[in-house]
Order: sequence, then C-alpha cells, then structure tokens
Amino acid sequence: MINPSNKAGVIVIGGGAAGLIAAGRAAELGAQVTLLERMEAPGKKLLITGKGRCNITNTAPLKEFLTAFGPNGRFLHGAFHRFFRDELLELFRQKGVETENERGGRVFPVSDNAADVVNALVSYGESHGVEIRPNSRVITIERDCDAVTGVRLESCEIIPAGAVILAAGGASYPATGSAGDGFNLAEALGHKINPLYPGLVPLVLKEISFAIACQGVALKNIRLTAFGCDKGSIPKMTIEHDYGRGTGYEKPAKPIIESRFGEMLFTHFGIGGPITLLMSQAVARALDSGPVSISIDLKPALSNKELDARLQREFAASPKRQLPAILRELLPEKMVEVMAGMSGIPLGRTASNFTVEDRRALVSLLKNLTFEVRSTLPLGAAMVTAGGVELSEVDPKTMASKLVPGLYLAGEVLDLDADTGGYNLQAAFSTGWVAGESAAKFLGAREPKTS
Ligand SMILES: Cc1cc2nc3c(=O)[nH]c(=O)nc-3n(C[C@H](O)[C@H](O)[C@H](O)COP(=O)(O)OP(=O)(O)OC[C@H]3O[C@@H](n4cnc5c(N)ncnc54)[C@H](O)[C@@H]3O)c2cc1C
Repeated sequence: MINPSNKAGVIVIGGGAAGLIAAGRAAELGAQVTLLERMEAPGKKLLITGKGRCNITNTAPLKEFLTAFGPNGRFLHGAFHRFFRDELLELFRQKGVETENERGGRVFPVSDNAADVVNALVSYGESHGVEIRPNSRVITIERDCDAVTGVRLESCEIIPAGAVILAAGGASYPATGSAGDGFNLAEALGHKINPLYPGLVPLVLKEISFAIACQGVALKNIRLTAFGCDKGSIPKMTIEHDYGRGTGYEKPAKPIIESRFGEMLFTHFGIGGPITLLMSQAVARALDSGPVSISIDLKPALSNKELDARLQREFAASPKRQLPAILRELLPEKMVEVMAGMSGIPLGRTASNFTVEDRRALVSLLKNLTFEVRSTLPLGAAMVTAGGVELSEVDPKTMASKLVPGLYLAGEVLDLDADTGGYNLQAAFSTGWVAGESAAKFLGAREPKTS
C-alpha cells in the first residue's frame, strides 16, 4: 500500500510539453519530482513547433476550441476547466515569455523563439526542485498488485516512485524522442491503445507525374474535397460549405469524407498545405476501408454556368488566343502545360474555334480536377499522432489511470489530437498540469491551490 505520508517521489516520463509542466506543477505542490527524458535534452519537439516559433495556444472560445479535437474533445472539459489558456499564458508571462496573437487566433511568443518556451518550462520545474535526467529512457513502469512502484530504465536502473506520470508523447517525428514508447508502456499495464493514425500529414497521389510537374504551386481560395470512392465514381455535385472536424458539419453525406476551402500545395509526391493537413486524418482512416479520391475545385466562387459564361466573354474579347494563353489567365504558370494536356483540347485551337464540348471539358477540369490518393505520408512524418490510450480508461478530472493506482497520463499519448492552430499544445499543457497536480495530491503533498 502507498502510505499517503510517504514522500516517495513522482516520476515523470517524458520532457515534452505535457511532462515539463506536469513536473513543475507537482513540484510546486511539494512533491519530490524526477523527470526522465530519453533524449539528451528535454523539449526537442517543442523546439520545432510552429516552424521554430511555437504556436502555444489559440484564442478561440472554449466551445470552438473543443471542436478542434472532434468528438474526443469532450474529455478535455475537466482539464480546461482547471487550467486553460489564461492560466497558461500567465505562467509563461511570469517566466518572462510575453505572447502575441496572430491570424486565426494563433498565439506565439513575441520573441518568435520556441526555445524561450522550453527554457520557461525548464525554469518553472527547476525553480521548484525538479530533477531533470536526460538520456534516461524508461522501458517499463513497475507495479505491484496495488499501485505503481517505480520505473525501469534502459540501463536497467530501477527508480522507485509513489506516482508515475506518463507523458511520453505520440509516435510522430521520432527523431525528437517521441517514438511510440508511451503506447507500449501504457499497453503493458493493461491500457487499451486505439489504432494509431497520422494526423496533419501530406497526401501521396497516384498521379505522381502531375504532382511533380506542379511541385511548389500553392493554390489559394480553392475547394479540396476528399471522397471515399475511386475518382471515376465521384458524384457530380456542388459543395457549398466545408465538411469535417471543427466545421459544424461533422458528418457529410457519403461518399464525401471532408471538404475544405482554403490553401493547398503541390509537392513532389502529392499534396500538402493547410487544408490538406486538416483533412488528412479522416483520409488516413478512410484509406483503411477502400479507395479515396480528391477533387480540386479551382474556381469555387463560380458555378459551372458562371465559369462557362466567363470563358465565353473572354473568348469573345480575345478570339485569337490559343489554349495555353487561355489557361494562363486562369491558372498558375506551372500548371498550364500539364492542364492543357489533360484537357484533351488541341493546343493550337483558338478561342474562336472552341466548341461547346471544348468549353465543357475546360469547365469540368477547372471545377473538378480529380486524383486518387495512394496513401498519406507515414506516421513518423505527421505533426500529430491520432489514436492512443483509450480515454474511457482515464479520469478526465485528474488524468489518473482507472486501471493502475498511482499512474497518470498526459499529452499526446492519450487518444487526443486536434487541428493546427495551437490546440494540440494547449491540450498537452492542460492535461500535464492536471496530472502533475493529481500525482502530487495522490502522494499527500499540499492540497492544490486554485490558480
Ligand atoms: C513539426 C511539428 C510542429 C508542431 N507545431 C505545433 C504548434 O505550433 N502548435 C501545437 O499546438 N502543436 C504543434 N505540434 C504538435 C505538438 O508538438 C505535440 O502535440 C506536443 O508536443 C505533444 O506534447 P507531449 O508532451 O505529449 O509530447 P512530446 O512533446 O512529443 O514529448 C514527449 C517526450 O517524451 C520523451 N520520451 C518518449 N519516450 C520516452 C521514454 N521511454 N523515456 C523517457 N522519455 C521518453 C520524448 O523524448 C519527448 O521529449 C507540432 C508537431 C510537430 C511534429
């Protein structure tokens, strides 16, 4: 049995966003805390967040914030109620990190330097006596029949503990240290791990030569729609609003998987860019059960009829223009040749000689440019890991494991992932804070003060 007066410490596994804040909070409440980090220094992933600028959180109202996580966002109510954006930003402010808000409610340090965020979190912990041990990879969490008793390192050292916080992250960007150990450690203690999927990841297209020809082209104000069928079976339909997580239209009519308006990018293997990343997790899941195609509407502001009318006006104004010149008015230069080839219209045909069928083919290509998705890039290349420790096995108010007394879980190891915009880090910080507080309380440290 754990003696509540026993000052055997808290072990935190993982020095990422969740682990650093959990360690600091548990130590602030009087627990003796050791943070074990497998890499040579904590915060490796934090350093690359937001392209090195660290998008810490988002200014979205709570309801909107939670929808960025899809249905699993419900789990975060308790943690966000205890420690949310204002408390987080106040903690950073106290540690000398001022922040500013940007487009889309994204919050960044004024310094634009993710290292300041890492240093603030390390300083928060160290000021309360947290011992950070780098190069310390945990390979098992030890338990007896009552509760956790400690952890075993790769070096075979066993470190006793009264409580363990598992904050080892997901399985994406493994070079930062988050290589999936957290899932193995939780599973070994009986936790269910929901299937892992890449979240926020580019897509690989079958039509690789098109992607290569257009590599680097960024398309703005277009509509990208993913369908759960092959491209020949994409229904003829007009899509008027976004579908997908956080859009208010969570359940689109089949075969639509998601549809988003915004910016995307051609890469040498397929497509990336903001709206591609947003729909990638839904695409990854759909690929498990059948073919997935995408359609790009390059002129979403115009209906087919309106686009046809615009073409007719332009043709009348410049009757001698040939197909490439016509396309140049409508598309980025790099797409002209490959789109002209796809249209099936002879290159030398002048506007005055375009038939109704030619115009129809052109309108169809611009409104419904279709490709088949081969795959997503692998989990290692994803910004977040979707899936993970089943949430019903974790108490959302305390982050305590419902299976193993003394075990707490926080951050991306949980089956939580959100859109881009600072949501993922806020979830890691909030769940980490609550886990730190609960672990300290479990060991009989001071009652948590309301912050
Ligand atoms: C390129 C990129 C950019 C991103 N940008 C943003 C952004 O701007 N805003 C945002 O909200 N989210 C962003 N994210 C997502 C965000 O970084 C993660 O969701 C977040 O870091 C998760 O925090 P965590 O503490 O759970 O895990 P991590 O930050 O991954 O930390 C886990 C730590 O555990 C350590 N560890 C793993 N296994 C062991 C073990 N066995 N023993 C000891 N230590 C171990 C790891 O080395 C690591 O340091 C980005 C992700 C990527 C990849």
